[in-house]
Amino acid sequence: MMEKVRVRYAPSPTGHLHIGGARTALFNYLFAKHYQGDFIFRLEDTDVERNIVGGEESQLENLAWLGIVPDESPYRPNPKYAPYRQMERLDIYRHYAQWLLEQGYAYKCFCTQEMLEQEHERQVSEGIAPRYNGRCAFLSPEEVALKEAQGQPYTIRLRVPENKTYAFEDMIRGHVSFESRDIGDWVIVKANGIPTYNFAVVIDDHCMDITHVFRGEEHLSNTPKQLMLYDLLGWKAPQYGHMTLIVNENRKKLSKRDESIMQFVSQYRDEGYIPEAMFNFLALLGWSPEGEQEIFSKEELIQHFNEKRLSRSPSMFDRDKLTWVSNRYMKDKSIQEAVEWCLPFLKEAYDLSHRSSEWIQMLVETYHAQLSYGKEIVPLVSYFFEQEITLDEEAQQFMLQEDVKKPLLALRQYIEKMDVLTKENVKESIKKVQQETLVKGKMLYMPIRIALTGQMHGPDLSSILTLLGKETVLKRLDRTLLS
Ligand code: GLU
Repeated sequence: MMEKVRVRYAPSPTGHLHIGGARTALFNYLFAKHYQGDFIFRLEDTDVERNIVGGEESQLENLAWLGIVPDESPYRPNPKYAPYRQMERLDIYRHYAQWLLEQGYAYKCFCTQEMLEQEHERQVSEGIAPRYNGRCAFLSPEEVALKEAQGQPYTIRLRVPENKTYAFEDMIRGHVSFESRDIGDWVIVKANGIPTYNFAVVIDDHCMDITHVFRGEEHLSNTPKQLMLYDLLGWKAPQYGHMTLIVNENRKKLSKRDESIMQFVSQYRDEGYIPEAMFNFLALLGWSPEGEQEIFSKEELIQHFNEKRLSRSPSMFDRDKLTWVSNRYMKDKSIQEAVEWCLPFLKEAYDLSHRSSEWIQMLVETYHAQLSYGKEIVPLVSYFFEQEITLDEEAQQFMLQEDVKKPLLALRQYIEKMDVLTKENVKESIKKVQQETLVKGKMLYMPIRIALTGQMHGPDLSSILTLLGKETVLKRLDRTLLS
């Protein structure tokens, strides 16, 4: 029987959930669920100074919003594997560091920061690839004891085995190998007693029975360090898959400072994106299914997920795709659901106290098909709420033409006679305007649209007039007629 698949997402709580992190979590999750395995959330919180307040909660909350709920986490511990925060696991690392010391696989290094920096500079100036020079690698037990007795601080370094090749089959990249001669003896425990990432991650992955690891390609060069530990400790390493970068539309790596793309999941949430749409979109960021289908429910993605189809080339954050996917999900919502989705944003932007729920429903219905996210409706409907509308540039140009007021005057007379505006009677009256004035097409519709909205584009006129209501329609027509 195949061993149970166990994967993990192990963020550092140094920030909020980034789309890169979300994608890592998502592929691990899809892989786990496809093979009926477990998805574990663990925290790499050893870089204490960089941790932010609420970082852990924010990661978990945003994952939950996406529909990713870990099978195990600090809040859902499995006693066999807990705790799930590295800072609560220091005893465990200490135990293994001690064992490595006793075996001679690691040693205490008393070099000061200053000495290390000087050596680094010397190596760089001589054109040598910088690495630890091994000064403390062969201190005698007496020397070590003396320095310790003097209270000299020390790190623990791994003695990198000589002339070894560390090779593995990456689930995404295929065969990868590294030579041990390119790696200097590296620090596994810092002077403050806290383990480094490469050390702690191995202990955790092993102790938590992690079978597969999908992570960002920036970790590829860490893998030989991790493999040598597995080797020395006599453990089996998990299978690794290093995912390619996410790049922007200029093919540049997404940088956290790049503001042209919203990079945090919470930003999408705040704008009223639909979580299932984000899940779908992120799944296509570096993975492609067989066939043409692009819209998938979470269950379908779990079913179709195949790690062999993870991309080997950088995945572009394609905004048009995001819009398209999000719009598909929005269109699939019922009117009632779309209203619920947009209402908080409308409420925040406008005074709705005098608007009936029928009116709000009609407003949302009018824009529903074009929306990709909730907040998108806000600027689109501003002319229903403004006292005075202003004409945009192209609308102003259009209104300089001759005869643009003719259909407005005719329409005004019909509107005035109506009690309430409905789509039907509005359509009827526009038809009559056409018959009466013999103006048709653009020269008929555009002046009306501009007089009422200030813009040359928007939904059909009958919806606009009905939503504006008789009084506002008359007021706006008059304003143009008298100008
Ligand atoms: N904390 C690491 C990161 O966020 C995890 C690396 C790993 O998955 O091994 O990149």
